[in-house]
Amino acid sequence: MTVAVVNPATEEPIAELEQAGVEETDAAVARASRAFPAWRGVAPLDRARLLRRLASLVEDNSEELAQIESRNVGKPIAGARGEVGMVAEVFHFYAGAVDKHHGQTIPVAGGVDMTFREPLGVVGLIVPWNFPLNIASWKLGPALACGNTVVLKPAELTPLSALRLAELCLEAGFPEGVVNVVVGKGTVVGQRLVEHPDVAKIGFTGSTEVGREVMRGAAGTIKRVTLELGGKSANVVFADADLERAAAAAPYAVFDNAGQDCCARSRILVEASVLDDFADLLVKATAAVKVGDPESEATEMGPLISASHRESVGSFLDGAEVLFRGDAPDGPGYWFPCTLVHASNDDRVAREEVFGPVAALIPFADEADAIRIANDTPYGLSGSIWTRDGARALRVARALETGVLAINSNSSVRVSTPFGGMKQSGFGRELGLHGLDGYSEVKNVYYATEG
Ligand code: NAD
Repeated sequence: MTVAVVNPATEEPIAELEQAGVEETDAAVARASRAFPAWRGVAPLDRARLLRRLASLVEDNSEELAQIESRNVGKPIAGARGEVGMVAEVFHFYAGAVDKHHGQTIPVAGGVDMTFREPLGVVGLIVPWNFPLNIASWKLGPALACGNTVVLKPAELTPLSALRLAELCLEAGFPEGVVNVVVGKGTVVGQRLVEHPDVAKIGFTGSTEVGREVMRGAAGTIKRVTLELGGKSANVVFADADLERAAAAAPYAVFDNAGQDCCARSRILVEASVLDDFADLLVKATAAVKVGDPESEATEMGPLISASHRESVGSFLDGAEVLFRGDAPDGPGYWFPCTLVHASNDDRVAREEVFGPVAALIPFADEADAIRIANDTPYGLSGSIWTRDGARALRVARALETGVLAINSNSSVRVSTPFGGMKQSGFGRELGLHGLDGYSEVKNVYYATEG
């Protein structure tokens, strides 16, 4: 069966792809299994060299990759270029990490005790449609650096950049079978990877709902899993913050990627004493976000990924108290304007992941109230704190139940620092040296030297 891949900004098909089934998935796992013994035996610095070559090839082909990503996801081209830049950085980083992730010797009686970092074997990597190439690289980099072979399953809607990356892997010189890409449905290819007895681990990024399925499916073979799931992060603005700076930044913490961002700070918590002033500043900043043609260099926000997703995002406005609704092109394309609503933390728009350009403004009374509201969610992925009081910033940062935080900034993701969630946003960490822990297992060996 073939499926059309569509440009969400034009609704026009840009490719037609054959969908793999269970048989093709099994064949990819078999190829990865056959390639594993030789790949784990490749000298660390040779593995590093291949990753470095891949990083260079991503740089050499960055414009093509950015164009693919922009057309397939509807990303503004400037943002897509930035994302491809990060992909190259990720491969450079893990090339440098290959020989710096090692075991220890531990003092014991009667002998020598040592630990080894062993690769897991074949790992299944399942990624979503919002940052297809970026998130694939966060998993591929550490998996390959540790000596695993991989089967990567891109999202149904956005398979194109993963296929191009697979070609670049071959061009870089990775042996055949080390990197495999299988295009198909989550409930077919993804589920088969999760249940396959020869897959040692699943690195999954996607919704919390599917994350639960992955965890259930992995139980049958006690498969290792890393789950990077949904979020409902808070942007906490105290009255003593630089309000102009906080308001200027806030739209980009939720409307980037049209709000289709697991780190979106879609709950903007504002100290009640400055709510009106902040709301005025926020409306002005939001009205300035440039929404339109992803091919234009100036565009900051493109369309949503699909018609059905647009419908789902729109449903969050039923009965909502709308503070601001921006402009968006009429169509074709799955457009949705930047939208701000007043809400309480009990409203649906504040409890569920909208995954679109809708932010809820929620007042709080004081520091304790801000912490209570921010933590009153099943999720725990990201967040920001805006204040000029350094001690308060750190107090609140320690109190928030979230894996990634920024103080006086929107920042969430950096190549060298750990990224991942608490609570129902998942577990395990990607990026940085922490990312290597999820793709290796510690083996302990005791060597008796006496008696
Ligand atoms: P999704 O959960 O629908 O799909 C993610 C991937 O899982 C896709 O490749 C899909 O084909 C596959 N899949 C679907 N059903 C499956 C099954 N039964 N078994 C195995 N695989 C299956 O998510 P999406 O709609 O593609 O992406 C949006 C979601 O991803 C949001 O919830 C977002 O917050 C989350 N996300 C999280 C992070 C993070 O790092 N925490 C980053 C990006 C996106």
